[in-house]
Amino acid sequence: MPICPNCESEYMDNITICPDCGVELVKNDEFTENLTTPEDYQIVYSTSEEYEAEMLKANLDGAGIEALIVPKKDRNFPAVGDLAVIDLLVKKEDFEEATRIINDINSNTNPPIEENP
Ligand SMILES: [Zn+2]
Repeated sequence: MPICPNCESEYMDNITICPDCGVELVKNDEFTENLTTPEDYQIVYSTSEEYEAEMLKANLDGAGIEALIVPKKDRNFPAVGDLAVIDLLVKKEDFEEATRIINDINSNTNPPIEENP
């Protein structure tokens, strides 16, 4: 599936230019490969839930932190139940702040169960 290297939107196979950015689309695989070794990025979070990755990215974006979602689906090893690992990458300089934000979010979305006494 082609993906826009600018806005990271995925498109149908017959689309070659991102309608939003006017940028030529690249293959998702190439895009991901290019991202797996970015020197100034590091993995701040891994999840198997795409919605969670999107949610965290949106929160980081809101905090002014640029985050990349890198799905690591291994097509040579199709996992039962479509298991996939999605890495969330941020710039090294943003790593601590991003970690703090993600921890905050996770502690809010998964509050300790404290029912009324
Ligand atoms: Zn785009």
